[in-house]
Parts: sequence; structure tokens; C-alpha cells
Amino acid sequence: MIRPLVHNDQFLSIPSTPAGKEDLAIVRDLTDTLKAHRSSCVGMAANMIGFSKCIIVIAPFGMPIPMLNPRILSQSGPYETEEGCLCHTGQKSVTRYQRIEVVWEDPDFQEHTAVFEAFTAQIIQHEVDHLHGILI
Ligand SMILES: [Zn+2]
Repeated sequence: MIRPLVHNDQFLSIPSTPAGKEDLAIVRDLTDTLKAHRSSCVGMAANMIGFSKCIIVIAPFGMPIPMLNPRILSQSGPYETEEGCLCHTGQKSVTRYQRIEVVWEDPDFQEHTAVFEAFTAQIIQHEVDHLHGILI
């Protein structure tokens, strides 16, 4: 189900709580909503559609990848960049890292660990910030 986007900064500032099996409907809705915005959006966090749960979906190459309870284990290669967000107007300067190691669970709650670089790493960092209630 495609859900409306949240633009309330107070709600978006609430840190998200761990996702469990009861939250799989949110994963589906987040994927549907991301697909609906695919022309302007390459990633979404669950709080952007109204659920403060640790779920993100990224689509760096078109195919949506859901990540539950993602955590950045390490990061290297800081750089400054400008980012926008569907929940806000304008762009903001942020520090991102070229290379990150991430642990997450898939919708079957299998744990994965992988290294991501460049654009994909940037998307994950932006969405993980959302989970921490950090607004861009
Ligand atoms: Zn955002």
C-alpha cells in the first residue's frame, strides 16, 4: 500500500525502535511507497511513512532492497556533500563516508553483513540517519 509521506519534523525526530515479525506489513508499504516515488527517490525510512521502526528500503539500481534493523559497523573516507530529502525542501551539507560496513536483517530475519561504497553507501547513511531521528 502506498502511504502518504510525513513532513512533521517533530515526528521525524523520534528515534526508531527495533523491527520485528509484526512489522512486515510496514516493509511492504515502504517498498510500495518507494516505488511510487522512484523518479525522485532512491531510499526511504519507515518513519517517512509514519512508523518509527528500524526499517529502510534502498533502491540504488532500481531494485528495492529492504533492510531491517540496519547498523553501520564501521566507516571510512569522509567527504562533504549536499543532500536533499523527500520530507523536506532544499539541500543540506552533510559529512558522509565513502565506504561503510553494515549489518542488517532481511524480511526473513536472516542477518547479513556487507561493505557498501559510494552512492549506495550514501543512501544507507541518509536512511540510517532517519532511524536515529536525524533530519537532513
Ligand atoms: Zn530523507
